[in-house]
Amino acid sequence: QDRVVILGAGQAGAQLAQSLRASGHEGEILLVGDEPWLPYQRPPLSKKFLAGEMEAEGLELRPAAFYETQRIGLRLSTPVEAVDCREKRVYPKAGEPISYDRLVFATGTRPRSIPLPGADLPGVVTLRGIADVDAMRPLFKQSSRIAVVGGGYIGLEVAAVARSFGVEVTVLEAQDRVMKRVVSPAVSAYFENLHGENGVDLRLGAGVAAFEGASQVEGVRLADGTVVPCGMVLVAVGAAPNDELAAKAGIEVSDGILVDGGGRTSDENVHAAGDCTRFHSARYGRSIRLESVQNAIDQAKAVASDMAGKPVDYDPVPWFWSDQYATKLQIAGLSQDYDEAVTVGDPASGSFYVAYLAAGRLIAVDSINHPRSHMLARRSIGEAWRADLLPAA
Ligand code: FAD
Repeated sequence: QDRVVILGAGQAGAQLAQSLRASGHEGEILLVGDEPWLPYQRPPLSKKFLAGEMEAEGLELRPAAFYETQRIGLRLSTPVEAVDCREKRVYPKAGEPISYDRLVFATGTRPRSIPLPGADLPGVVTLRGIADVDAMRPLFKQSSRIAVVGGGYIGLEVAAVARSFGVEVTVLEAQDRVMKRVVSPAVSAYFENLHGENGVDLRLGAGVAAFEGASQVEGVRLADGTVVPCGMVLVAVGAAPNDELAAKAGIEVSDGILVDGGGRTSDENVHAAGDCTRFHSARYGRSIRLESVQNAIDQAKAVASDMAGKPVDYDPVPWFWSDQYATKLQIAGLSQDYDEAVTVGDPASGSFYVAYLAAGRLIAVDSINHPRSHMLARRSIGEAWRADLLPAA
């Protein structure tokens, strides 16, 4: 008997179940998740799905029949409260414990909250799942003005969708530029202009002090005393890994479940994959925690391979995308430690890319409406930089 229980029925969990079966695993595979839906993709939640250009069924990664034919058991609407690694059992909030031979954590992340006065007022929302969009839609329709706390991908994508509905949007970013954590000043400036041109009131260096309102949020009070009136506030200030269950079960975590290149945790019967993990990247010379579809899929495949007795050393070139208005940002690699940024093409033309170098090697590329440079970058990261490595403009 080799019963694999996968905790978390999201992008990584579904991929793992599928890859494990494809690798020849004969034993039982059970996907346990707390949401009521079949495993689904999240990127459209802040893009086409929020805009109403896509139905919920379109989000599903696979139809129900797929799980049946692949003999992948699904336990949805099943929040798990505890894991006992010695007894090899997981404990759902309701019902009988579920025993496993091998367990995989694929629990993802959750939005960070900000502990400010009024943060629990109705109308102050976060965005992670379908339920959050369902809760946001009526507020979108009722409010003529919304505020977004956080100028990262999710905040800016929601701002763009709201503008397409004619909603007035104020984006409050504590840093001096948007997406500061992930892109260079040139790319931030491009997106700041883009949002400005589309009528977003973008406030940089804005400290949020409180959310105001009687029975429903009516405004955001800033540190300087200004009040931004609004009928909804999206708090989009990053995500925290769901690693507490693993930590309580005695598995090593440190802002993410610590895994090796095969997704192995500190417990020999437990792997982990996706947003909830942290691993050492020899490529980048440090430990990293990635929040992307690419990582969820590729790391899940690596874990399936490791579990099938074919160890791999997962150390990817990460990639990511964001859609804002008609602009597509594609990111290959991680640019954090760059010492030189080369802009190729004219940002004013709306199509350009920025190559990030460290000690003369290409470590990352941000492509703005420039898919060719992105595709080539995914193959060229790590190489010594030459002007002809990527397209001319
Ligand atoms: P998830 O897909 O989050 O799945 C984890 C599942 O585990 C969830 O269903 C969760 O509810 C469940 N779970 C957690 N704890 C428990 C428990 N105790 N019991 C039972 N179930 C539990 N990535 C990109 O690459 N490009 C994008 O454009 C992009 N846009 C995004 C937009 C939004 C709005 C969001 C929220 C994310 C976006 N991402 C994007 C990130 C991408 O969706 C994630 O990286 C990916 O979903 C990670 O997969 P995962 O399986 O690790 O986690």
